[in-house]
Amino acid sequence: MAEPAAAAPPVDRLAIVGLGLIGSSIARAARRYGLARDIVAIDGDEAVRDRVRDLAIADRVTGDAAEGVEGADLVVLCVPVGAMGPVAEAMASRLKPGAVVSDVGSVKGSVVAAIQPHLPDGVALVPGHPIAGTEYSGPDAGFSTLFAGRWCILTPPDGTPDAATERVRALWEGMGALVETMSPEHHDLVLAITSHVPHLIAYNIVGTAADLEAVTQSEVIKFSASGFRDFTRIAASDPTMWRDIFLNNRDAVLEMLGRFNEDLAALAKAVRWGDGDALHAMFTRTRAIRRSIVALGQDTAAPDFGRPRPEEDGGKA
Ligand code: NAP
Repeated sequence: MAEPAAAAPPVDRLAIVGLGLIGSSIARAARRYGLARDIVAIDGDEAVRDRVRDLAIADRVTGDAAEGVEGADLVVLCVPVGAMGPVAEAMASRLKPGAVVSDVGSVKGSVVAAIQPHLPDGVALVPGHPIAGTEYSGPDAGFSTLFAGRWCILTPPDGTPDAATERVRALWEGMGALVETMSPEHHDLVLAITSHVPHLIAYNIVGTAADLEAVTQSEVIKFSASGFRDFTRIAASDPTMWRDIFLNNRDAVLEMLGRFNEDLAALAKAVRWGDGDALHAMFTRTRAIRRSIVALGQDTAAPDFGRPRPEEDGGKA
């Protein structure tokens, strides 16, 4: 990533609501790459506000959303999906004409429905979703390069002025992201299979293993290196965020889960009947998908996701 360009920043005043992993990463990146003249951080939690001040990643910090968005050209809501509507309602009356409101929520259809009714005329909504994150939360979890080389999907509703979409695109591209636009409904279907159902499976398998009576919990932890460990990373994701995702993308998740259950039943049948050809064909196809993800630069080619080997980190891994 290039360091700040000398040109005028694409956003004059950027207001970020919710300074957790995603919000604080945007603040850090906007500051590092010179994407806003003025950054206002808004968070209801006093401890988060104090931490944001210590980190010096915003020009102004406040707990009052309405006051914080005054004069902002771009407001980005970085709160859990279920909190988007109440936050939009609280700030709406103080948005300036011509302002653009965006968000980073992992579900788009319900978020558009929750935010749009509160916005005054002359304020555009350009929802967004960065396909980037970690299993950590809070302002200390963020980092300025979180979005570099990762996709950000924008879902502007029909009739959104191009200039509004371009303002949001400029922010994401300035942070190093690759931007694609699509409808909220299509986003929710795609993300149901690429993100939401995998998380549900991870939560389920870790929960099932923890409940097994024949295998003790200490054995589950002790012998976790072989695959299970990767599920535990996903299953450690923020409970509030993921509860809200499943409550707000119910139809798409259930549709994809139905497909998943059918395919799982077919795999179970192949195992039961010793159909090695079917298993081999399936695993060959899935290996090719993993290789194309790596080839597209969306993950590392290093073995075991690049985790250090015992001899490389003094035996701590
Ligand atoms: P996070 O680290 O937990 O931060 C969430 C922020 O929202 C915190 O500042 C929190 O403040 C605030 N908040 C929580 N409940 C609120 C409420 N009811 N009203 C107002 N503010 C509230 O979460 P995150 O990972 O940054 O996720 C934020 C958004 O990004 C979510 O919509 C999520 O779907 C989306 N997203 C996450 C990822 C990921 O991998 N984590 C990736 C892409 C998109 P408090 O300190 O008061 O709780």
